Amino acid sequence: TTATPLRVIDTSESWEWWGRCWGYVLAGAGLTENDRLFVPFSFGPFIGFWAAVEGAKGIKALMIPGGGRDSLQRLHLMKELGATAMCCTPTYALRLAEVARDSGFDLCEIPLKTLIHAGEPGANIPATKARIESVWNTKCYDHAGASEVGAHSFECEIQPNGTHAIESEFIVEVLNPETLEPVPAGEQGELVITNLGRIGYPVIRYRSGDLVRLNPESCECGRTFVRFEGGVLGRSDDMVVVRGINVFPSAVENLVRQCEAVEEFRITVSTEREMAHLTIDLEISKNADEETSRHTVDQAIQNELSLRPEIKVVPSGTLPRFEMKAKRFHVEK
Ligand SMILES: [Zn+2]
Repeated sequence: TTATPLRVIDTSESWEWWGRCWGYVLAGAGLTENDRLFVPFSFGPFIGFWAAVEGAKGIKALMIPGGGRDSLQRLHLMKELGATAMCCTPTYALRLAEVARDSGFDLCEIPLKTLIHAGEPGANIPATKARIESVWNTKCYDHAGASEVGAHSFECEIQPNGTHAIESEFIVEVLNPETLEPVPAGEQGELVITNLGRIGYPVIRYRSGDLVRLNPESCECGRTFVRFEGGVLGRSDDMVVVRGINVFPSAVENLVRQCEAVEEFRITVSTEREMAHLTIDLEISKNADEETSRHTVDQAIQNELSLRPEIKVVPSGTLPRFEMKAKRFHVEK
C-alpha cells in the first residue's frame, strides 16, 4: 500500500480460480443456493468483490450488487430483496448498524443470518466480532487474502477456531521472519505462500507480511485444511514499539472495543522528546459517562499492555467513518 501499485493480468483460468477460492469462503460460512449475498460496494479495481461474485456463482447463490447507493439506501435494498448474507469490511458492518440506529431503521427487518468479513482484521478481534454479532444479531465469519496472492483462508462454522487455509489451492508455510526457518506449529511466524492456480499471476513462496500461528490439528467441521489460530494476527510492518513494548493495532482495538460505550476511535503514536507516546481519541455513545468510559479503556490498556495512554473523549461525529479499509491507527514520524 506504500510503493508503486502492481499491475496484474488475470487470465480466464485465473479468474475461475479466484471464484473457486471464494466458493470455499462462502461455503465455509454456510452459504448455499438458497442464499442472497449482498455486496454493498461499487466495483473498482479491487479484485475481492469481483471474486466474491464469481464465488457466489460457483455455489449458485443469488448475488445482489449494492454499489452506487448511500448506506441507508443499501439497508432498504437489503430489506426489500431479502438479503441473507453480506460481505464487507468489519468497519462497514458497524457503520451500517450506526446509520440504521440513527435513522430509526430496524436491522431485524433484514433476514440476514451471515456476515462475511474481509479486507482488514476485525472478525478475528474478539471484542469487534462480539460487537458486530450483537448489533446485527447474526454470525460473522472471517476471511483473509491479498490481491497479489489470492483469497487464501476462511472461517468455518466451528468458532472461535481460526481460519482454514485453502490447501487445495495454496501451499502455506510459517517461517521465522528473521531466520526464514520454519517455526514449530503453534508459534507465531510470517505466512509465506504459494498459489497453485493463478495461471496469469503465480507467486512462489511469497512473503505476505502477515503473522499467523499454524494449527495442524483436525477441525470438528470435518475439513482437513490446516488452520491459522485466531486468523491473521497482524502484519509484521504494523507493529510499533512504544516504550519498549511491541504494540499491534489489532490488540489495542480489541481492548478499546471492550468498552461498550465506544462508538469510534483513533489511535495515534507520536514521538515526544525521543519517547513514543500513545494517544487514543474516543467517541462514545450519547448516554455514556465520559469519565467512566475513559477509565475503562485506560485500565484495559494498562492491564494488558502495561502502557499509560493519553485518552481524550471527542464530540460525537468528529472522527472519520470508513466504508472500505479503516485507518484508525496513525504513526506520526
Ligand atoms: Zn473447520
